[in-house]
Amino acid sequence: MEDIISLKNIDYSYYGKIPALKNVNLSVKKGEMFSIIGLNGSGKSTLLHIINALVFPDSGDVLFEGNPVTEKSLRDKSFGMQFRQRMGYIFQNPDIQLFCPTVFDELLFAPLQLNLPIETAKERAEQTLSFLGIEYLKERPVYMLSGGEKKRVAIASVLTMNPEILLVDEPLSSLDPKTQTFFIELLLELNRAGKTIIFTTHHLDLIEHLQPRVAVLSEEHTIRKTGTASEILSDEELLISVNLIHEHIHKHGKEEHRHYHSHYVFHKH
Ligand code: ADP
Ligand code: MG
Repeated sequence: MEDIISLKNIDYSYYGKIPALKNVNLSVKKGEMFSIIGLNGSGKSTLLHIINALVFPDSGDVLFEGNPVTEKSLRDKSFGMQFRQRMGYIFQNPDIQLFCPTVFDELLFAPLQLNLPIETAKERAEQTLSFLGIEYLKERPVYMLSGGEKKRVAIASVLTMNPEILLVDEPLSSLDPKTQTFFIELLLELNRAGKTIIFTTHHLDLIEHLQPRVAVLSEEHTIRKTGTASEILSDEELLISVNLIHEHIHKHGKEEHRHYHSHYVFHKH
């Protein structure tokens, strides 16, 4: 399968001072489920921003189907349009994403941007509302939504564009368990339907559940290892070194019991 996205020797720092990514290399194949894991501050969101050309690296190359993605190449109308249409970004915080007066306006926005006729745009918005089970929110102003509802609307507003590649920053973040499950199952379904999905997380149980290919970012902002979910999850030494799991000592009666655990949301002692 061809690489849909590849990054070569990417360096990025904020204001030339705060390092966020160092010598990052990775490639994602068409149709793949791919995950970037690492602790807070390791550079996951920055990496998604670079993939989506929201920021440009200090050095190194970003390629989209082998074509360089730069400020200059995106100024080419046809390449720029294609790039923006084919890639959708679901932000960690839905508030950043929603800006229209009502939910329905929000869902019409992308199709109208794509110059679809208004009837087609409406049809697509209606289908997406029903696909996400949020028809009842159609006429609501965005400020009258709960956190979980906002997230569904934010997801819907990206899906109305029908992107081939979805970038998802921290899919579990600040969602109630029901919305988390809904979102995770949706990602699986979209991936089965052929979409390429790249998501970030620090929850190892999500890796276990979705079985993506995984790149591990260290606190030093480098990629420590890339591999299958089982290769990564079975590499205890690696996960300890990037602080995604830590050792716990419990006492069960008189017996001391030592094991490793991650910072799981669903962690049970
Ligand atoms: P993650 O998503 O893994 O938590 P980020 O990509 O947000 O990591 O951050 C990587 C590093 O860049 C961190 O040290 C963070 O403090 C810094 N950083 C992120 N965003 C900004 C910003 N807008 N301005 C300055 N520093 C930032
Ligand atoms: Mg982040």
